Amino acid sequence: MREKIDQEIRKIVSPGDILGVVEEFFAGENVYERNGFLISSVAGIEHVDLRDRIVSVTPFRELRKFVPGAFVYVLVTGTRGDIATARVLGFDLVNIYRNNIFGILHVSHIPSERRLRSVDEMIRVGDILYVKIVSRTQPFFLSLRSPKASITVSLCPRCGSIMGRLKEKLVCPSCGYSEERKPITHYLYKYSELRGRQR
Ligand SMILES: [Zn+2]
Repeated sequence: MREKIDQEIRKIVSPGDILGVVEEFFAGENVYERNGFLISSVAGIEHVDLRDRIVSVTPFRELRKFVPGAFVYVLVTGTRGDIATARVLGFDLVNIYRNNIFGILHVSHIPSERRLRSVDEMIRVGDILYVKIVSRTQPFFLSLRSPKASITVSLCPRCGSIMGRLKEKLVCPSCGYSEERKPITHYLYKYSELRGRQR
C-alpha cells in the first residue's frame, strides 16, 4: 500500500524496477510502461505524487549536481513560522525539473537589517528565489545569504500581478502596492518595463 504523504521521497530504485501498475499511476519522468507495469528506466530516487497520481524517478546523476554551494531557482510553496518550503525548479528557468525536489529555507538564511520573526515578513508563497544550496541531502537546505542570491519574481499580495523592481522596492504596476523586500539584487522585472502593459 502507498500510504505515505503526498510527494514524499520513497526509495532508491534501479533500472527495470517495477514501481506500480497503470491502473494506479501515470508514468512520469524516467518511467515507462510495459505490459501494464510502470518501470524505472534509470537508477535514482522514486517520487510518488499521490495528488496527480504520477510516479517518476530523479536520476542519481542529476541529484549529484545538487551539492552545497550550487545555486538553484526554487518556487516557494509554503511559509510557516521560521520555515519556508520550496520546490527546486532547476539551475536555470528553461530546464525546469518536473520531479519533486524539495528545499527548506530557514529564517536565519534570509539577510535583513532587522531581526525577522517569521519568513513571511520577507518571503511569500509563489515567490521564485535564486538560492544557494547548503546541505547534501533532500530536502535541501537553502540560503539567501549570498551576493548572488535573490528574490527573482514575486506576485502582488493584493491583486496577484507580477511586481516590478523600483530601486530598493518592489512595486505593483497594477494597483500601486509597494514594499521593501530583500534581497532583490537579481530581481527579473523592472517596474518601468511592466508599467503601462498592465494598466
Ligand atoms: Zn497589485
